[in-house]
Amino acid sequence: MLVLVATNELQGTVDGDYACTVEGELVTPVVAECASPARCGCNMGFPGLASSRAVTTAQVVDLPHISEEQMREVVEDSLERDGWFDLAGEACQRELVDEHLECIAAVCAAFPIGTVVGRNGTEVFSRSPGLPDLRAA
Ligand SMILES: [Zn+2]
Repeated sequence: MLVLVATNELQGTVDGDYACTVEGELVTPVVAECASPARCGCNMGFPGLASSRAVTTAQVVDLPHISEEQMREVVEDSLERDGWFDLAGEACQRELVDEHLECIAAVCAAFPIGTVVGRNGTEVFSRSPGLPDLRAA
């Protein structure tokens, strides 16, 4: 299925770039930003679903060995591990997971496979040169 992974491609080409995830790690475009996102950089990061660290460059890739069920489990495990489920009831937990899966799918549907994307708040944009300036919010 189409997913977003952390990439070091194009890292350092934008001021404030950072890559604290593991290369190739599954990431999500959904972020709860802090009170000063531009200063801390969380407005431009994609959280890693395994490391709980973030990266400013994500890539749209097709990983046929990953099923939707497995992707759901990965998101669930990440949210639970990071404490997002602590105060959320079962229905709310499901909604949170659905939101992540829908946003990942929306970004992947908006850009060709291989595109390196960046994020600014709720906007995800192509950082790959030579591609039309498609945007998914
Ligand atoms: Zn922040």
